[in-house]
Amino acid sequence: MTVLKILKYPHPILRIPCPEVLVFDEVLQGLVADMVETMYHGTGAVGLAAPQVGQSVRVFVMDTNAYTTRDNLKIMVNPKIISASRNKTMREGCLSFPDYLANVKRSKRITVEAFDALGVLHSYELKHLEAVCVQHEIDHLDGVLMMDRIESLKTDWLRRQNTQEEAVDSQD
Ligand code: ZN
Repeated sequence: MTVLKILKYPHPILRIPCPEVLVFDEVLQGLVADMVETMYHGTGAVGLAAPQVGQSVRVFVMDTNAYTTRDNLKIMVNPKIISASRNKTMREGCLSFPDYLANVKRSKRITVEAFDALGVLHSYELKHLEAVCVQHEIDHLDGVLMMDRIESLKTDWLRRQNTQEEAVDSQD
């Protein structure tokens, strides 16, 4: 497995909507393994989307316990949100914007369907941090970034004060 380079804004690939995965082969499984390795490799992240490592495909990995037990890994290929609750403003970060945090309106609870790396379809009912993370990562797959979701640059786009401390709030 390889730790991949994370692309930062304004790299153009971050703006390209990703096509769906059609073939669940060892190339896909290798990409997923490298993405998991990269997410766990001192990034301070709980999620990572394929375009952030230069691959324009609908794949992301997440683990809201990435900082601690690393026992909540989810791999989502061609994810689709089936239902979502009303929005609430949440604070989030992004590996492609290492110096910033944003206040973004996200659904607190969602149901999402996604394939794993072997092509098996799963359904997840998620809330809080996991729900926010899925919405943030699906945005990446659509070429949408945090700043597209904020209402005001003045109040919702914040420079990180303390990277270590704030990193715990980071979604991705
Ligand atoms: Zn992100």
